Amino acid sequence: MAENCVFCKIVRGEIPCYKVYEDEDFLAFLDVKPLTKGNALVIPKKHYRWVDDVPDFGEYFEVARKVGQATKKAFGAEFISYITIGLEVSHAHIRVVPRYKDDKHGGLVTLEVTEDFSDEEMKDIAKKFDI
Ligand SMILES: [Zn+2]
Repeated sequence: MAENCVFCKIVRGEIPCYKVYEDEDFLAFLDVKPLTKGNALVIPKKHYRWVDDVPDFGEYFEVARKVGQATKKAFGAEFISYITIGLEVSHAHIRVVPRYKDDKHGGLVTLEVTEDFSDEEMKDIAKKFDI
């Protein structure tokens, strides 16, 4: 655990999140600045700097896939972009970005293009994940 890491604070419950999945090692929650509807972040509960520092890399991506499949089912996403840039927050995270025919990202996902949902809408979106 890193004292001042935002994602560690979410794991510890010090910062609230719209949780969509949790198991012993991983947590998934909605991005508060969603790139598209249902955009979630999957993180290891222990603090690792990069995704390839996570000991079970395969299991980590399996969790991301579960989250992605759930967004397809819940929101009719056409496909999922799994993004691991890693510079935004210094705690490993996989961005699971549902893509829609009419989303605003075109061919590539642009981190600057976000969508706004109210607190109520975010709660509703999080509830629709059936994992
Ligand atoms: Zn952390």
